[in-house]
Amino acid sequence: MRKKILYIDMDGVLADFGSGLKTQSEKILKDYKDKEDEIPNLFANMLPMNGAVESFMELSKIYDTYILSTAPWENASSWSDKLLWVKKYLGENARKRLILTHRKDLNIGDYLIDDRTRNGADKFCGELILFGSDKFPDWKAVCRYLI
Ligand SMILES: [Mg+2]
Repeated sequence: MRKKILYIDMDGVLADFGSGLKTQSEKILKDYKDKEDEIPNLFANMLPMNGAVESFMELSKIYDTYILSTAPWENASSWSDKLLWVKKYLGENARKRLILTHRKDLNIGDYLIDDRTRNGADKFCGELILFGSDKFPDWKAVCRYLI
């Protein structure tokens, strides 16, 4: 029997966006006010969300797991930063399993864990697990549901 396909978003799900902002200087934060996702190298400096790495490893044993993220179009370094982040924190388990797209709905699968409904997440053909919602406030709740 085929494993079910699971997609996991990065920012706000695997990676802590706020932790990346904390590494920036005041000048950078001022220069990029209201367009923080365009800060060069921001995405390489994020820490994993609580429980994210452990959960990814556990879920990878059961599901055919991919990272499904959107890289900002105006931030060229974010595209490579995301690859470097995945290699650093998820390693071999995530090898060649990173998908960067603005159309998450074009990926066929069973589950998508995402903290937002943008970039096609709301039209995903499988079940959207809304990370940070009342039902799925954290990784513990997500793993309880999926494992
Ligand atoms: Mg997100």
